[in-house]
Amino acid sequence: MMHASVSEVFCSVQGEGPYVGRRQAFVRFTGCNLKCNYCDTHVGVTNVCNFEKIPGSGVFQKVDNPITSERLKELVCSYSGLHSVSLTGGEPLLHADIISSLDIGIPLYLESNMTLPNMARKIKDRFSYVSGDVKILPYSLLEEPDLHLENTIECFRVLRTTKHRDCFCKIVVTKDTQIDDIEGVIGAISGYISCLILQPVTQKNMQPETGYLLSMQQSLLDHVDTRIIPQTHKMWGCL
Ligand code: SF4
Repeated sequence: MMHASVSEVFCSVQGEGPYVGRRQAFVRFTGCNLKCNYCDTHVGVTNVCNFEKIPGSGVFQKVDNPITSERLKELVCSYSGLHSVSLTGGEPLLHADIISSLDIGIPLYLESNMTLPNMARKIKDRFSYVSGDVKILPYSLLEEPDLHLENTIECFRVLRTTKHRDCFCKIVVTKDTQIDDIEGVIGAISGYISCLILQPVTQKNMQPETGYLLSMQQSLLDHVDTRIIPQTHKMWGCL
């Protein structure tokens, strides 16, 4: 039986992008293959998974890790009224095997850093929604920048929008993000995505100026439907 290390299972609303406000179960897998400088997620493996049985209660039950696909299904299906199940992390594509065996009967919504195309290929047909990040990272954080870009483009190609799947792209913008870096990659993936979300970074000391963001949007609108949407759950203060 397949199993994985999961840090949290809870029910809330999607806080980012075009599906903001949709009710979802969230499954947060541990482990990530990148080290983003703005990362605010604890991605290390834990012995227990925090399961919030009653949405919004702030009361968590401890469930032992690793969790089997059957147990994960039980936890997720204890919630009702779900639009979809968000598989997040860390990087959920590192857990392609358990995802391929998850039989929940609710649409799956992948939140990925889009750098693992071989894993994506294994399970691409499982997803109804793909929220794919383009990580514009300082070169110092990337061992092989060209390979990072190549993998990102290939991952979007594999998980692209079809009549059964909506794939959109999200880019976290900091004050150091350069429009040229974004335009290069968006030019390569614009045919694979339904829209692009520019998400200003939450950390105050790293935020871009409003005018800078708007000029970035103007340039990118030549390639694809581009929207500026901040993280709403941070404003609301919920999970
Ligand atoms: S890909 Fe996501 S989880 Fe991984 S380091 Fe970057 S921000 Fe953190």
